[in-house]
Amino acid sequence: MKQKEKEGSNENLRVVIRVRPPMAREIKDGKFISTVQVAPDNQQLCIFDYHAIELVPDEELEAFVQNPANYTIHQFTFDYVYDQESTQVEVYETTAALSVDSTLQGYNSTIIAYGQTGTGKTYTMHGFSFTPNSDQLGIIPRSLHNIFTHIQMKSNSMTTFMVRASYLQIYNESISDLLRPDHQQLNIREDKKRGVFVENLSEWAVRSPPEIYQLMRRGNAKRVTASTRMNDTSSRSHAVFIITVEQIEETPDGKRARVGKLNLVDLAGSERVRVTGATGIRLEESKKINQSLSALGNVISALTELKQPKSHIPYRDSKITRLLEDSLGGNCKTTFMAMISPAIEAFSESLSTLKFANRAKNIRNTPMVNQDQDQGALLRKYQLEIQKLKQELDERSKMPIDSMVAELEKERQKALEDKQEVMSAYEQRNRDLVQEREMRKQLEEKISALNSQMLVGGQKIEETPQFQNALEKQQKLIRQQYQERLQELEKERQNIEEDKAQTDKYKQLLLKQRDIMIALTNRLNERDETILQLQEELDAYEKLQKELEDINQTKESRIQQLVELLKQKDVEIPMNLDLPANSIINNAKQQLLLAEMPSSKMILVADPSSNSYIQTLPQQGSYHHSSEAVTQYELKNQIDINKKLELDLKISRMEQERQKKEVNSLQEQIQKYENDTTTEQAKKSVDLILNQLTKPANGNSLATVAQELQKLQKILSEKEGSPKKAVQKFQQETSNLKQQEIINKLIIKPSKSNNQLNPPQSKKYKQKSVEELWN
Ligand code: ADP
Ligand code: MG
Repeated sequence: MKQKEKEGSNENLRVVIRVRPPMAREIKDGKFISTVQVAPDNQQLCIFDYHAIELVPDEELEAFVQNPANYTIHQFTFDYVYDQESTQVEVYETTAALSVDSTLQGYNSTIIAYGQTGTGKTYTMHGFSFTPNSDQLGIIPRSLHNIFTHIQMKSNSMTTFMVRASYLQIYNESISDLLRPDHQQLNIREDKKRGVFVENLSEWAVRSPPEIYQLMRRGNAKRVTASTRMNDTSSRSHAVFIITVEQIEETPDGKRARVGKLNLVDLAGSERVRVTGATGIRLEESKKINQSLSALGNVISALTELKQPKSHIPYRDSKITRLLEDSLGGNCKTTFMAMISPAIEAFSESLSTLKFANRAKNIRNTPMVNQDQDQGALLRKYQLEIQKLKQELDERSKMPIDSMVAELEKERQKALEDKQEVMSAYEQRNRDLVQEREMRKQLEEKISALNSQMLVGGQKIEETPQFQNALEKQQKLIRQQYQERLQELEKERQNIEEDKAQTDKYKQLLLKQRDIMIALTNRLNERDETILQLQEELDAYEKLQKELEDINQTKESRIQQLVELLKQKDVEIPMNLDLPANSIINNAKQQLLLAEMPSSKMILVADPSSNSYIQTLPQQGSYHHSSEAVTQYELKNQIDINKKLELDLKISRMEQERQKKEVNSLQEQIQKYENDTTTEQAKKSVDLILNQLTKPANGNSLATVAQELQKLQKILSEKEGSPKKAVQKFQQETSNLKQQEIINKLIIKPSKSNNQLNPPQSKKYKQKSVEELWN
């Protein structure tokens, strides 16, 4: 008979929110802007909708979020709101423990975790540690612990408990048993006695906390295996852990049986899965998640907008709503836990989660204790079965086997003549006896197996020798596995340490090599600069050379002109150019005087300071003659200078040639050096070493790296000498005094004679001086 409990509606459906702490990726420059604020009463929550915050520059964010003009606040009230500081213990004790208590009282309870992927659903339900007493343990292991503690406390009363667990997953609208991999594509059934249930779902009797961890690990491993195959299935599947607690209490009025069920649901991520672009399995998967979560939304809407009590609730639109039919608006105490992230980027998902949770508050459940059900609890069934088996065993034990054997013996003695017949009868009896013993043994085993699944208050099965033996064996096995795993881990750790040390060593070596390479590159750069400088100097020098040649050209043509002129005037051209200026002048004077007309008056003045200035004082009418004489003198002087200049030019040309050759050979050498394959190889080796150092796979490859480095070092030290020395040598030579002298000569001397030798200028100057002197 189902007994209706009078409960306040709030107790039958509680809606709580858990805000998870910000994740590293959500914190920028050590700062985090939270969109969520939880009131100190842990019941109210505000979520801030910052307008266009994504457009605000980082440095203005702080001021922006403090200005009320920049946000809208949405406020919600729930049964409980856990802020980001909340712990697993706190969540369990203030929320989940109530569901566990209800289950122990014989109610069906459900805790549903809802929220966007990554908001902490799995963390809250399972936790990420299955170590006893870890503060990271989630609701599932804590619930089972709580149930066992309760059983222990009741150990003196006359209550017998049986705890069973099942674990299923709904992926792509297909139910699979996470504890029995061969149980796939299970169906949901409903009958009057059991209500809604999953057909063929395995149920596992659990007697101690280690057994729970084993089950959870097994189930989660199944979920993880699936996730690598189907890519993060855990956020794309719903997982339901079901704990059933049956108990039979001996009361003065007789036996009282109760069955309570605790459904712990970790839903798929509630974010709208984008369907666009997805194909095949992905598309199907996304559609199914969207479908099942909107079915959940529709069920909640239908339940809360209920006009008439009998209106249609679309439970059958998805597997999850069908499975949770009792939990949503039915015979169940339900806790709806919505998880949210406080980050700005999760704002819209968080807001829709809060709105969803807010709507769920209005669901009305009518839970009932599953007490003395007509079908009888499984526990009672087992007890009856045990009783029956015991009776059978007793009956069989009463059979007079020994007397039968004696009788047979007597018969054999009496009927010697029928010996054969009696013998065969005797053998037959013996065979029967063996069979009977076998059967008895089997029955005894069956009884002990059934007994071991039961937790009997007061009379602990754990204390029986069979149980102790099995336990010890199991513990020994676990201890051994643990030890092996520990050793493996230690070995792995040592390997990693060694690898790390090796890597560091080679990193240092490589850094040194890199420094050498950098120094070498710097030196190469310096050398390049020197070459450039020299090139410039060479260019300047060539330019000068060219100018000098031009001047020479002009001068030669001028000489040619003068020679022509002298020829026209029948003046002998002096051949002895080695004579000093004075004798040349005298010579010219004599020759001119010979050719001169008697009336002419002319003064020749030789400027002793420059040995090239010639001033004439012509008279009117005799100017023509006088200037010719001067010209002849000038010519001689110029020939003298020219000769010297030509000599200089020759020397400088030779020097220029030599320098050109030297520069060419140096450039060749540099080119050769740059193209040098060994240098290339060295560069490649450095790359290779860098590669290998970033992922040191094993000792072998590190040894190769060391060898490479040594080779490289050798190459570098060899290479270091050659181009450097060449450059230094060249620099020395170019700074040589002799060189400098030649350059000076080339630069200064022609410029001096330039003034003097430029014919038009010289004429002008001459004219002016003549006039001055005349006056
Ligand atoms: P979901 O199952 O909702 O996708 P998870 O439970 O996998 O999210 O959580 C995502 C990450 O956030 C995990 O690394 C988890 O450790 C962390 N996390 C979630 N909630 C909390 C919390 N309350 N405290 C600390 N870490 C949390
Ligand atoms: Mg998860």
